Amino acid sequence: MDKKIDGAVISLVRGDITGEGTDAVVNAANTRLAGGGGVDGAIHRAGGPAIMEECRKIGGCPAGGAVITTGGRLKAKYVIHAVGPIYKDGLHDEKELLSSAYRASLELALQKGLKSVSFPSISTGAYGYPVGEASEVALKTVIDFLRSRKGLEAVRFVLFSDPDLEAYRKSLEKLAP
Ligand code: ADP
Repeated sequence: MDKKIDGAVISLVRGDITGEGTDAVVNAANTRLAGGGGVDGAIHRAGGPAIMEECRKIGGCPAGGAVITTGGRLKAKYVIHAVGPIYKDGLHDEKELLSSAYRASLELALQKGLKSVSFPSISTGAYGYPVGEASEVALKTVIDFLRSRKGLEAVRFVLFSDPDLEAYRKSLEKLAP
């Protein structure tokens, strides 16, 4: 599913983000940038050790932030490591932190002059954020960003399961009918 937002396109696809050919892929990282399971493990496995080498030099990143490294052996030239919140009960700034992680990633992409970026569903795996709510936060943040800041041409959400894709599809339909 595609939606045009001013000059840019938001796409929702099902797939494995490590195969994306966008200028950058976003990793759902942890504050220590230490790697782990889920999409983080998949990106480091596919991209090779150059990514972790840069992560070690950077050292860490707070929740709500993002840092950028090489894409190593990935097709994407860069990996943007975004740190989403661990979901507790929705009363611990989870929404603000999740939105901030997406915004920080988009800012980095713009700073580097990138045109296209692929996101996974940050925080909705091991970090437990309900995907229905997270998809609205993610998409609203991206839509607002694309409407106010020019330069990006394509933002893709690469969802790992059909239910996740469906949640994002519903939210996008609601936010940009
Ligand atoms: P977090 O710790 O931020 O919750 P996870 O990696 O546990 O991050 O999960 C985030 C989302 O990424 C989940 O929906 C998970 O199914 C998905 N995911 C896992 N592997 C991949 C992959 N290779 N490509 C895209 N999405 C993936």
